[in-house]
Amino acid sequence: MSLTATNGTRVLVTGAGGFIGHHLTSFLVSKGYWVRGVDIKKPEYEETKAHEFLVLDLRKYENCLAATSGIDEVYALAANMGGIGFIETHKAEIVYDNTIINHHTIEAARLNNVKRFLYTSSACIYPGYRQRESNVTPLREEDAYPADAEDGYGWEKLYMERTCRHYFEDYGLETRIVRFHNIFGPLGTYDGGREKSPAAICRKVALAEDGGEIEVWGDGEQTRSYCYIDDCVEGIYRLMRSSYHEPLNLGQDRLISINQLVDIVARIAGKTIRKRHDLSQPQGVRGRNSDNTRLRQVLGWEPRISLEEGLARTYEWICEQLCLAGRLTPDRVKARSAVEHAH
Ligand code: NAD
Repeated sequence: MSLTATNGTRVLVTGAGGFIGHHLTSFLVSKGYWVRGVDIKKPEYEETKAHEFLVLDLRKYENCLAATSGIDEVYALAANMGGIGFIETHKAEIVYDNTIINHHTIEAARLNNVKRFLYTSSACIYPGYRQRESNVTPLREEDAYPADAEDGYGWEKLYMERTCRHYFEDYGLETRIVRFHNIFGPLGTYDGGREKSPAAICRKVALAEDGGEIEVWGDGEQTRSYCYIDDCVEGIYRLMRSSYHEPLNLGQDRLISINQLVDIVARIAGKTIRKRHDLSQPQGVRGRNSDNTRLRQVLGWEPRISLEEGLARTYEWICEQLCLAGRLTPDRVKARSAVEHAH
């Protein structure tokens, strides 16, 4: 818990026990905000910096009222989510949990006179019919309609975006909506089924022998863009401070295939890695990239940490975790100087 003086603004971060919420909490505390973190669990890998941390299930309305009591600004990140393997196989659970978490949180925020409410949406709201090619056209915010979102998780996000709009128009709640494009970095889930592709690839490469083989989901030619966590929290914060109510992309716009991602991580690791493609595994849409035109216009800023640098930091952290868990010995982890070779 933080003992530093604050600027007097009281913020709530929901999902503060999770990957982005934990980083955002540290960032806001460093900016001088008084922060209450709420989550169904505490952060897994390090202590929270929040001034107050409440372990609460936000599916329950009375918990949302308690969480938002006395709060000026809400960053709503809590969600039941995971990588493509998880969201494709837990649709009912995801839709149920996230709908009630979000509805209860925004209604409680309104009743507690919260001034600003930032909702974390996803690139998964974009229509499948615009993402059928690896060499995909970057997605502009207005491309969300006519809607054909990712089934389950994506539809719930899109519906909650609409809910934010209605709360702004009907009640004057100052809502902000951010659409993340594949955020990654240290202190994120890297194993167990909920991890995303960068963390999964870092783990697999770390555990593989030099010259060994790792499993890659699909043919590896599916494409994405990836944004490092430090840029993500900076972008969230800038959006909250802006007066922009419409949904806004937050991601990098460098398109890269999963095969290329594996090659970059292998270079960082200083290993030669062969890929075994498993076509039976889910791979999501064929291609997805962020059009950052509006992001630049609205925030006068865009993410700047390179994929190589972000992956190097993530790889290093995952290696440390694997060593702590006794799954890797330090002598098998190469020095960080390998990063330079990856550029
Ligand atoms: P995360 O899973 O690490 O964090 C979500 C947190 O919400 C978890 O700590 C979880 O315990 C908490 N939560 C779940 N159910 C809860 C409940 N009933 N009550 C209280 N807390 C509950 O995920 P993240 O990557 O940090 O994502 C944060 C937000 O950003 C989510 O809304 C997610 O959908 C969105 N998002 C993330 C990405 C990404 O690339 N990481 C991409 C698009 C959107």
